[in-house]
Amino acid sequence: MKPDHEKPKPLVGISSCLLGMRVRYDGQDKFKPDILALIAPHVRLLPLCPESMAGMGIPRAPVNLIQRNGAIEAVGRDDPGRNVSARLHTMGRIVGRTYPELCGYIVQSRSPSCGAATTPVYNSDQTQVIHTKGNGLFVAALLAAQPDLPILDDQNLEPGPIDRFLTAVNQRARLLANNSV
Ligand code: SF4
Repeated sequence: MKPDHEKPKPLVGISSCLLGMRVRYDGQDKFKPDILALIAPHVRLLPLCPESMAGMGIPRAPVNLIQRNGAIEAVGRDDPGRNVSARLHTMGRIVGRTYPELCGYIVQSRSPSCGAATTPVYNSDQTQVIHTKGNGLFVAALLAAQPDLPILDDQNLEPGPIDRFLTAVNQRARLLANNSV
């Protein structure tokens, strides 16, 4: 077994807009320098933008989550006939299968793709918010593939939540390493 200092740091996915990449629907970023200062030294960051990866373009028309017939879907805010649910689910499944060694994920809050229990969910004609605890569809599919994946929301970049997240990430890394022996 390799000594600790030779082991690779745990792999942690991150919404790439949080690292300053201009991939948002409006062509802007959501750069959070605290992530570079407080988290990046301890892990290997894997920046991903599921909407860009799904071919939705930059910039692109915004989408909202809606609840319809008991299901959550992602549809165009200004063009409700445009439904991107399947491609966002596909991205979550692909990432879940491609990176079984993922030990955590840092997400952009309120996103219809990346949000984790923070995204507004509208009624079917988008005239009313039903609740604000939705999962983005990429994250929902990723968590279906990797249910125990530790998640850190960008609204929680405080020392306490960061410490708890890194502890959970390291626990998962040890578990994955033990299971692969
Ligand atoms: S899909 Fe995710 S990574 Fe891409 S811009 Fe939206 S929140 Fe950021």
